[in-house]
Amino acid sequence: MTPQDQRHYDVIILGAGAAGLMCALTAANRGKRALVLEKANKPGKKILMSGGGRCNFTNLFVEPENYISDNPHFCKSALSRYTQWDFISLIESHRIPYAERKHGQLFCRDSAKDILNMLLDLCTRAGVEIRCNTQVTAISRDMPEGAEEETPLSDAYRYKLQIENRQVACQSLVVATGALSVPTLGGSGFGYDIAKQFALETSPLRAGLVPLTFSDSMKTVCEQLSGISLEVQISIKNIIFTEDLLFTHRGISGPVVLQISNYWQPGTSIDIDLLPGIDATRLLVDAKSTSGSSLLRTAMGQVLPRALVLELQSIWWPDMAERPLAEFSDAALRDIGARVNRWQLKPSGTEGYRTAEVTLGGVCTHELNAKTMETNKHKGLYFIGEVVDVSGHLGGFNFQWAWSSGVSAGSVA
Ligand SMILES: Cc1cc2nc3c(=O)[nH]c(=O)nc-3n(C[C@H](O)[C@H](O)[C@H](O)COP(=O)(O)OP(=O)(O)OC[C@H]3O[C@@H](n4cnc5c(N)ncnc54)[C@H](O)[C@@H]3O)c2cc1C
Repeated sequence: MTPQDQRHYDVIILGAGAAGLMCALTAANRGKRALVLEKANKPGKKILMSGGGRCNFTNLFVEPENYISDNPHFCKSALSRYTQWDFISLIESHRIPYAERKHGQLFCRDSAKDILNMLLDLCTRAGVEIRCNTQVTAISRDMPEGAEEETPLSDAYRYKLQIENRQVACQSLVVATGALSVPTLGGSGFGYDIAKQFALETSPLRAGLVPLTFSDSMKTVCEQLSGISLEVQISIKNIIFTEDLLFTHRGISGPVVLQISNYWQPGTSIDIDLLPGIDATRLLVDAKSTSGSSLLRTAMGQVLPRALVLELQSIWWPDMAERPLAEFSDAALRDIGARVNRWQLKPSGTEGYRTAEVTLGGVCTHELNAKTMETNKHKGLYFIGEVVDVSGHLGGFNFQWAWSSGVSAGSVA
């Protein structure tokens, strides 16, 4: 191989997603020669598909509590170095129209393309080279002759990447290959393979922000109710979310279900309050005294979707379905009311990585420097974005982590 076959860069970034592009433009703005290698045919596919095509790019209320990680403190440094306000001023300076939705979620008003085009434009202006359709087949680290293992970074370490029949080399290698979620949008385990190659620990992986499924009689109930949505509160112990739930053919989805899925473990139950803020027992006992000749489904139909009430009736009071409220004992109404406020369900699983918005777990935070995202064991090797064991709640928190961790690495790599 001649020297011309091997191109040298200051920094090579694997993955042209949110974190990789942000890192590349940050490094290039510092005068670094940056190359982004992307296996897909175009960059930023997840950005384009996110938020229903409008990209929920950040949140007004970003707090460390919005993130799940073995070390809940790890995300703090990056999130405070590059905040939601920094990203908001970036998109304002590019005159990208955006809108606030509930819970402080910020979306593009027109299209997620605006965000991707802005990042690509900034990369071009900073001189970042982006190569798509590129598969890295091998990565090695070597030291120039004479360098000692203890030699500080300087020029001592080099990462070499094999791309088909060519080699590229760099001083800093940033892994921004994302995670397993949605393989059709670039989800891949390549980042974990690199972690393994360099003897870095990864925490167990599982699908997050994902619909929950049922295989028992609840599956039929969900099928019947498919398409119906209502606001509920879902909890697992002291973790509580209140938002919309959507019944689907396979189980339950909607923002509240995606949020709680991050905390659900196989074999455990979730509690659903179908009437958050309303004492269902009181409601039913009052209905008995004021409209004793009515049916229970009629009383419940005032506050819950009728189709849902019919399903609940077939599970909870099938024998009394045609009996007037006056014939229900108070104890029976208390029992039904308690179930309305605390419907305990045991999902059989999740829809998995096919639809999950994130992958929980990843490269362990104790392997990384929280300020720079550089690995503690290998100078010049960085991990950023979703491949790291930091996952956000629904609401723009995952992109904010991608921007923040990308800037952290790009500022030093
Ligand atoms: C459908 C969907 C909607 C979402 N909506 C939102 C939202 O509105 N708001 C929010 O905050 N979060 C959202 N998320 C989560 C968010 O998209 C991710 O957290 C974020 O994209 C992670 O950024 P990343 O750069 O780490 O990874 P990615 O954006 O996944 O980028 C990784 C890149 O690496 C490339 N790659 C993979 N393997 C290789 C390889 N071997 N070589 C080279 N390149 C490789 C991939 O093709 C990809 O381009 C959504 C996720 C999904 C799936």
